Amino acid sequence: MPKNQYFNHEGPWSDATGPLMCTDTGDWRTKRPVVDAERCIFCGFCAIYCPIQVVQMKGESHFEADLGFCKGCGICAQECPKNAISMVSEEEFQS
Ligand code: SF4
Ligand code: SF4
Repeated sequence: MPKNQYFNHEGPWSDATGPLMCTDTGDWRTKRPVVDAERCIFCGFCAIYCPIQVVQMKGESHFEADLGFCKGCGICAQECPKNAISMVSEEEFQS
């Protein structure tokens, strides 16, 4: 897949350019995707289905969302065939 200005790949739904990308989504995102690397089979469905293409490979073991851009929509968790992604309340990460 071709590169865009933010990430190393371009997904099927958009080119992940300007209007879809913003920072500090943690300020308003209510849940974040958390990947269980032990369950991940590295299929890449989460990266393909994420509407803004913010799911990136972490080495060669699993995928994770870039939380600077993730909107918390949960599509990746819905599409994961191994149920390896849990949508966890942002409150769990506040100290
Ligand atoms: S869809 Fe699920 S199993 Fe596939 S790469 Fe993403 S987290 Fe791993
Ligand atoms: S929750 Fe939505 S925006 Fe965030 S990584 Fe998953 S599909 Fe992409």
